Amino acid sequence: MSRYTGPSCKKCRKMSAKLFLKGAKCSTNCVMDKLAAAAAGKRGGKGGPRRAKLSEYGVRLQEKQKARFMSGMGEVPFANLFAKASKATGQTGEQFFKYLETRLDNIVKRAGFAASMRTARQLVLHGHIRVNDKTVNVPSYQLKPGDKVALAAKLVSNVGVKQGLEDAVKRTSRPSFLEFDAAKNIATLLRWPDRSESSYPVNDQLIVEHYSK
Ligand code: SF4
Repeated sequence: MSRYTGPSCKKCRKMSAKLFLKGAKCSTNCVMDKLAAAAAGKRGGKGGPRRAKLSEYGVRLQEKQKARFMSGMGEVPFANLFAKASKATGQTGEQFFKYLETRLDNIVKRAGFAASMRTARQLVLHGHIRVNDKTVNVPSYQLKPGDKVALAAKLVSNVGVKQGLEDAVKRTSRPSFLEFDAAKNIATLLRWPDRSESSYPVNDQLIVEHYSK
């Protein structure tokens, strides 16, 4: 199945949710915020746009799609990652989000090297990210506690990267499972993240049910 290459904001509109796919713009100039404000004005402050009621299947599908869009993954790799989680010990939902959270592209974003997942993937694909002193150009690369993720030295002065790092500092959003050395631009994964620390605000159970039916 081909990867969707259209406007990111369209995905948020389709899901009726802010998926934060465009970095800083999502906080400053978001079409979803404007739509919600316009709808609230029309209805005397009673919420966002009206939507047809979804079936139970539709609700589960939508939750899965939200997580998939946020991850920037295709259908098949996303389903494969879920299958891997379902074979691991422990709760499938928790395990799944642990794997999602510790993919290299996600850690590049959470470390502040990139403001969005799309930029994070580009940095990885173009060979600008090193893991334990070796270049890794696979966005899905699975990290484990102790791994060190570093930005290639020549990229530190890049405008987009600088912006990402500044935004990360402003938002103070670096999670506690990452240790960040700002002088060397190295993020170390200290431990597996808890579900509550994950960057995927979706309902695990609905996703588990989606893949179990
Ligand atoms: Fe676009 Fe970001 Fe708003 Fe989504 S959250 S609609 S990607 S600006």
